[in-house]
Amino acid sequence: MSAFIRLPIRSIERSLLDWLDAHATALDEGQAEPTDVLPRLADAGLFKLGVPIAHGGVGGTSLDAVAAIATIAEHSLTAAFVFWGHRTFIEYLLESPNASLRERWLAPLLAGKHAGATGLSNAMKYLGGIEPLQMGAHRAPDGWILEGQLPWVTNLRKEGFIVAAAVDHADRSSPSIFAIPHDAQGVARSADLDLIALRSSNTAAISVEETWLSSDWEIDPDALSFLSRVRPAFLAMQCALSIGLARRSLSESLLAAETLGAEIDALDHRLQKAVHLLSEGLSSGLFRSRPAPLFEIRIELAAIACAAVNLEIQTSGGRGYLRDAGGASRRGDVARRWREAAFIPVVTPSLTQLKSQLAKHAGSNAA
Ligand SMILES: Cc1cc2nc3c(=O)[nH]c(=O)nc-3n(C[C@H](O)[C@H](O)[C@H](O)COP(=O)(O)OP(=O)(O)OC[C@H]3O[C@@H](n4cnc5c(N)ncnc54)[C@H](O)[C@@H]3O)c2cc1C
Repeated sequence: MSAFIRLPIRSIERSLLDWLDAHATALDEGQAEPTDVLPRLADAGLFKLGVPIAHGGVGGTSLDAVAAIATIAEHSLTAAFVFWGHRTFIEYLLESPNASLRERWLAPLLAGKHAGATGLSNAMKYLGGIEPLQMGAHRAPDGWILEGQLPWVTNLRKEGFIVAAAVDHADRSSPSIFAIPHDAQGVARSADLDLIALRSSNTAAISVEETWLSSDWEIDPDALSFLSRVRPAFLAMQCALSIGLARRSLSESLLAAETLGAEIDALDHRLQKAVHLLSEGLSSGLFRSRPAPLFEIRIELAAIACAAVNLEIQTSGGRGYLRDAGGASRRGDVARRWREAAFIPVVTPSLTQLKSQLAKHAGSNAA
């Protein structure tokens, strides 16, 4: 099998990867404290990748963040998804015209001292014409009163979080994007959702009732232009989840049995091609003006990840069905990756949404 293509990446400490391997199943099943994940990723310097030096990062591009999320996803999708939520919020600050919000929040986020969360699936579904915005605002002295809910948000650390949400305005033509801090009056986090996997990801719902926020908390007054600016990085970092999962399952399949070598090779080839297209499109800026090819890459990578996990199931045989196969540190790895893979098509923009948007796009091109 050809060597797996790697996006440019600075090395990630082996001790972090070993810790993730040892705790991946516990993080997935909810038996590990979610508290440890964010500080460990921060201590390894991962949130600084692709963040300009002037803003406290180490420079590089969002491809470096994509590469790092993919590497973490090889070890634990729970940790990789927490990484995605946190790093995506950092990207929002980098793209925000609100310099004072960025100055106040970047340092604690880069250091993993505070959790950033992205509640923008509602906004992405809104853009796709699937549902209305679930957060509204009206004018109040020196600011706005916000009201609404976000039914699914990851990385809502009990120790504290700040979450991005799209907000509909009664007195404006366009929605905006707000950062909502956990301790604003009227903000409440639910108990963790009772998930089938990724349970130690601090995933919960948020309700916002009569919450006053000043414009200091506005990430961007124009949600539509903001969302189209951040969409390439948002989606590319999501693609990293599929890349990491596929890589791990393919390499485990190869270790387990050479009998499916041709299938493994073919899938590896598809993976390399999709990673190459992702890397090129992100570097050239193509996805800013043309999102359709990025949607196609996200769909293709999801299909590859699911097929790779299926190959791993086939090559591991009955061993994959044993909870303690492979020793304590690798307990239930095959079943875990199977559950992790089930998340890939679901996260917004879901594959159903992307396919329907591509179909609309093809229809309007044909017309
Ligand atoms: C573990 C976990 C963590 C999550 N973390 C976050 C997070 O951090 N931030 C966040 O914002 N969200 C998060 N989500 C939410 C996730 O991104 C999806 O938005 C959510 O699961 C899909 O919403 P739904 O189930 O209400 O879909 P529904 O609205 O019930 O729709 C079902 C499916 O049909 C598709 N669909 C519905 N209507 C249409 C249509 N008209 N055209 C095309 N397709 C359509 C949807 O895209 C979806 O795939 C998380 C979800 C899970 C499971």
